[in-house]
Amino acid sequence: MNAQYLKEVPLGELLTADQVLPAMTNRSKRQAIEELVDVLWKQELIPSKSEATARVLEREELAPTALGSGVAIPHARLPVGDRPAIAIGRHPAGIDFGATDGELVHLIVLVLWEPAQAGLFNRLFGGLVGKLANAEFRERLVREESTAGIAAALADVRIDMLAGRPNKCETDMLITLQCLRTKQRAKARGLERQIELARAELSGNLLSRFDRLMEHFGEAVVEAPGGICRGCNMQLSSGFASEMLHHPETVYVCERCGRFLIQQMA
Ligand SMILES: [Zn+2]
Repeated sequence: MNAQYLKEVPLGELLTADQVLPAMTNRSKRQAIEELVDVLWKQELIPSKSEATARVLEREELAPTALGSGVAIPHARLPVGDRPAIAIGRHPAGIDFGATDGELVHLIVLVLWEPAQAGLFNRLFGGLVGKLANAEFRERLVREESTAGIAAALADVRIDMLAGRPNKCETDMLITLQCLRTKQRAKARGLERQIELARAELSGNLLSRFDRLMEHFGEAVVEAPGGICRGCNMQLSSGFASEMLHHPETVYVCERCGRFLIQQMA
């Protein structure tokens, strides 16, 4: 298995109608995750039901995977072989996934993927997020009457291993990682596993930059209110500041000090 090969896999090759639950009714996030894990188990796509559930819930504790606008992508690493194991559930009444926008989740995409494939999830996630950010597309998924229709709607989402700048999920994960490391420096204990999980979601070059910045400045991600880097107080160029303002989903790097810049901490 190599990255070149996976790069070419469209979601349609990973998702059949049997992996879609069109009308979930669970009361809790845990139950919803258990039901979707059960789908993968019945399709013989995962080696262990209990381990899959435990890993996904552990990841949810680190940071909820609800993206906002009624969508959540719970996920974890598990030895599933060459291809990610994916199940999709629609929940008409909506379920609380701890979304930051406070909205109930109506569409749940469960993804389990091989631990050996570093960074893959961010790429896959990026493609899905792009599709699911589109309100028209979400409505289509809600309207589709058959499980085959739902699977077909998602079929052409591609895994893009060549995504350029880090996306919102990576920004959030950098902030999470920084919070954990700061707590750890203040002698908080038992954070190793959470840090390991957060690091597993970031690509190697982002992580090495993050580590260098933490080492050098004691912080890696800073706010840039009014276009001023809070790390080094440099006024960013107006073009750069305006791009940041209009693309809050992208993480930027200060041209002077190299810190990751965000508009503001959530
Ligand atoms: Zn700076």
